[in-house]
Amino acid sequence: MTDYEVVIGLEVHAQMLTKTKLFCGCSTNFGQPPNTNVCPVCLGLPGSLPVINGEAVKLAVKTALALGCTVHESSIFARKNYFYPDLPKGYQISQFEEPFSTQGHLDIEVDGKTKRVGITRAHMEEDAGKNLHGVGGDSVVDLNRAGVPLCEIVGEPDLRSSAEAAAYLRALRDLLVFTGVNDGNLEEGSFRCDANVSIRPRGSDKFGTRCELKNINSFRFVQRAIDAEVARQTAIVDAGGKIKQETRSFDPDTGQTATLRSKEDAHDYRYFPEPDLPPLVIDAALLAKAKAEMPESPVALRARWTSELGLTAATAATLSAHPAYAAFFESARQGSKDATRAANFVANDVLRGAKTHGLSATFTVTAENVRELLGLVDSGQISGKQAKEVFAAMEAEPSKSPAQIVKDKGLKVVSDAGAIESAVKKVVASFPDQVASVKAGKKGVIGFLVGQIMKDTGGSADPKLVNELLNKLIAEA
Ligand code: ADP
Ligand code: MG
Ligand code: ZN
Repeated sequence: MTDYEVVIGLEVHAQMLTKTKLFCGCSTNFGQPPNTNVCPVCLGLPGSLPVINGEAVKLAVKTALALGCTVHESSIFARKNYFYPDLPKGYQISQFEEPFSTQGHLDIEVDGKTKRVGITRAHMEEDAGKNLHGVGGDSVVDLNRAGVPLCEIVGEPDLRSSAEAAAYLRALRDLLVFTGVNDGNLEEGSFRCDANVSIRPRGSDKFGTRCELKNINSFRFVQRAIDAEVARQTAIVDAGGKIKQETRSFDPDTGQTATLRSKEDAHDYRYFPEPDLPPLVIDAALLAKAKAEMPESPVALRARWTSELGLTAATAATLSAHPAYAAFFESARQGSKDATRAANFVANDVLRGAKTHGLSATFTVTAENVRELLGLVDSGQISGKQAKEVFAAMEAEPSKSPAQIVKDKGLKVVSDAGAIESAVKKVVASFPDQVASVKAGKKGVIGFLVGQIMKDTGGSADPKLVNELLNKLIAEA
């Protein structure tokens, strides 16, 4: 049997977060009653004329910049002609031969290795409406989505496994969410993916015939859909058959892909330049404005946090999973002496109660209060263990400040040397073997003894004092 190499290229349609549509002033609000966000322009009524949305252009430019694409000063909108009930004009305004940006890249991580995937192009286009079936026994069309601005990001066929494809999709989603151009919502359809899949004998430098898997609406399905498609193509080629180029859909219930239609070629769409719109001009001023507004990417954040703050890769990944998490951590750690402590506290305690929806997130506590809490630990006023207790109280009563809670609960680190000394003495006497080990050079055992003392003092002993006294008593023992 031949050993095959899998080749995948993804096309992603990302809805840009504008208030209004790409060529008219209609609202982009999701979930409104059908056909309420419409006007003559997005309904394609005769005599109406499109006008480009400047905010959409800026978001598109940011998308291109985030992907390291070249942004072209002049580009052309084109009509993509096809007939479908959800397309009132009979054509979609898109970009074809001269998109506004080309040739970028996206770095993905798979099995601990970084791989650079090429981006062919990013272009702007309008969304179509939505056909709804079985409404009162009928099929109906909702045109609220018609004309909503999309950025289509076409990736090079550089991906070599379904795992790489899923990693690409996640990295792209995170990048767009951090850039503030998209809410990353696969389920609501504001981030949609088509996967082009082919196989070829390993070592061959020619690509095989591809099939396009349409509209995969979850990260879990991408991988399953591609694996199913690779298995199907492998069986056909192994049996001496040929792959037909076509558009297929994935059915999560059967786990199989099935023919939707034979694949259209570009000439089937009779593309031609949109006569109602001038060439799109992205001048130096607009480019500079977009550049100035670019936030740090999740990859850049992770690199900075691991190298400058010494965070582990895992903690950095947790804190960069959402822009609001990253912002919370950056705010909470201000003034903190111990970035790792702050990071662990946010990652382990704060994020447990956090919820995200699109670009927004809710937390059970404020970053300011967490900053104050970390300050109390830093200055030795409370122990790390007490901090957890205070945190629980903060979640229960968000209006109370951490200092107030510490006062109300009477929590204070025991830094009374006499009280600590008796606890240390007791532990040194109770664990002679461990003390002997430390004396014999097994420094690691010290941690065990410190743990015992903290246990005895209910976690309230000043750790610095404990260590000092313990070392002193062991040396004397
Ligand atoms: P369209 O699908 O609209 O015709 P393109 O011809 O530009 O557009 O191809 C789109 C996608 O198909 C790109 O993401 C590209 O990486 C991918 N692709 C092209 N050829 C292959 C192939 N042989 N196997 C897998 N993916 C491919
Ligand atoms: Mg395609
Ligand atoms: Zn409209």
